[in-house]
Amino acid sequence: MMPIFDDTFDVIVVGGGNAGFSAATTAAQCGAKVALVEKAPESENGGNTFYTAGAYRYCFDGLQDLLPILSKDDGTQGLPQDLIEKIDITPYTKDDFHADIKRICKNRSDPELARVLVDGSRAAIQWIADNGGKWHLSFHRQAYEVDGRYKFWGGMVTAFLGGGKALVEWHIDLAKRNGVQIFWGTPATSLIVDDESGNNTGNVIGLEVDQQGLRRRFRAHGGVILACGGFQASPALRAQYLGPGWDLAHVRGCKYSTGDGHRMAGKVNAQVAGNYSGCHSVCWDADSPANGGNRQMTNQYTKSGYPLGLMLNIDGIRFVDEGVDLRNYTYAIFGREVLKQPASTAFQVWDSAGSQWLRKEEYADNVTANTRAETLEELADKLASRGLRNKQQFVDTIREYNRAVHCFRDEYPYKRWDPSRKDGISTQSSKTRLALPKSNWALPIEQGPFSAVEITCGVTFTFGGLQVDPGTACVVSDINRRPIDGLYAVGELLGGLYYSNYPGGSGLTAGTVFGRIAGEHAAGIARTKTSNMNHR
Ligand SMILES: Cc1cc2nc3c(=O)[nH]c(=O)nc-3n(C[C@H](O)[C@H](O)[C@H](O)COP(=O)(O)OP(=O)(O)OC[C@H]3O[C@@H](n4cnc5c(N)ncnc54)[C@H](O)[C@@H]3O)c2cc1C
Repeated sequence: MMPIFDDTFDVIVVGGGNAGFSAATTAAQCGAKVALVEKAPESENGGNTFYTAGAYRYCFDGLQDLLPILSKDDGTQGLPQDLIEKIDITPYTKDDFHADIKRICKNRSDPELARVLVDGSRAAIQWIADNGGKWHLSFHRQAYEVDGRYKFWGGMVTAFLGGGKALVEWHIDLAKRNGVQIFWGTPATSLIVDDESGNNTGNVIGLEVDQQGLRRRFRAHGGVILACGGFQASPALRAQYLGPGWDLAHVRGCKYSTGDGHRMAGKVNAQVAGNYSGCHSVCWDADSPANGGNRQMTNQYTKSGYPLGLMLNIDGIRFVDEGVDLRNYTYAIFGREVLKQPASTAFQVWDSAGSQWLRKEEYADNVTANTRAETLEELADKLASRGLRNKQQFVDTIREYNRAVHCFRDEYPYKRWDPSRKDGISTQSSKTRLALPKSNWALPIEQGPFSAVEITCGVTFTFGGLQVDPGTACVVSDINRRPIDGLYAVGELLGGLYYSNYPGGSGLTAGTVFGRIAGEHAAGIARTKTSNMNHR
């Protein structure tokens, strides 16, 4: 028997982050009556998206392609000509994006999902720009000033102006202007299935939500789009899927993403996909809160200055090659390496030469607890109060590293240090080779004052999600491998794109690309169904 519904919509979206709002607004722009239900109260809006830097990765054809969508930092359109002339940006082609996904995700990413993401990436950015979203060049994040020129690196060069906070504000405003009804503090609790559809998997025809303790049932003619994030905010699910110790990682963003979408979809036999033991995790300020991000600081707890220095654990031992690749391609895996260290903490260390390149956003004194000292011995003494338990080893490791750096420099005096590219300045020469190399940007750590910051592991989002049909974002059934009518998954909940690692900036792009695909498809289904009903 058909349940009694409290309200009826064409499309219902679960989750108010970038993916959910991209889906909801697109569906509304296609003429659908849309509801978006969000578990968090309005005062905690935006999901993980709120905490982001607003950085999107997409294909573009050099600076000329970007100029029409770029704004200055004050929000006015365009860039001054004298600045344009000092910028070095190389195009980021579809082949580049594919190669990055393949390399970074160890050739495991679902090729069809990757193709849809890459092909749709530039159009997604244009849709945002066409709807009033503003883009700016990431001078501080993705460029270094070398010889008076701004050299951009890492394939990802722009961000939404104002970062995640502004992105969420823009999304909410645009959704409202397009007529999307937003229900804050309204968690989705289960999917409603039409058992009499004759379809083996049952069609999803609506959603049950909790509204201030009351159970409400919403009908969805075109479908329910799940955009309610990963399970990163559930310590129990983290320990279960990611492994022992993961319950102790700090949650970087939204505390409401506890795997509700996985659970609800599991009950209608959705097929899972992707890297369930994998997640995005970064070097994160040890003084950050454990169970969810700070809405004031958001992304500033990230500590991504390690390519210009060293990382040592509390026993004074290095544990990763800090310069193995550009930061965009290592930052999402180094959190896991920190978690593995004793006490799940470590220290990032620089000398006076390295520390001048650190971004104030992450390392200013009002952002993080910098420990400073004139000598390495004094630095080790001070870090003992933050947990360093082998001071001598700490000093010895850095001195051994310095010797290796000097041997390399003696052998290759013509090589130029350049933070904007993999410069090959390393610790490995014919005279000395470290067991754990630093492969690029190997500056000696020898000129005081020295500085250090204590870090831990910050988990961003989980990679395991639901299998979708790449062309529609419809969730696939585990029973017959066919799309489940009326059920979609987008954003962090979409599984199969990322394995082990992740090319920085792809999360927001994927959310917009697949969110828009799902929104358009569900709106189309609603149109067909309601016009059929009208003709009966
Ligand atoms: C600090 C930080 C910085 C980041 N920086 C970037 C960046 O610059 N670029 C990038 O590409 N990615 C970045 N990311 C990754 C980011 O997580 C994703 O790219 C993207 O924001 C995820 O969007 P989403 O819509 O899938 O999820 P979210 O934005 O997390 O939205 C999911 C929403 O679902 C809600 N929800 C959960 N359960 C329910 C339920 N039962 N009912 C209703 N609602 C529910 C949640 O409350 C949340 O609001 C960053 C993440 C963090 C934490």
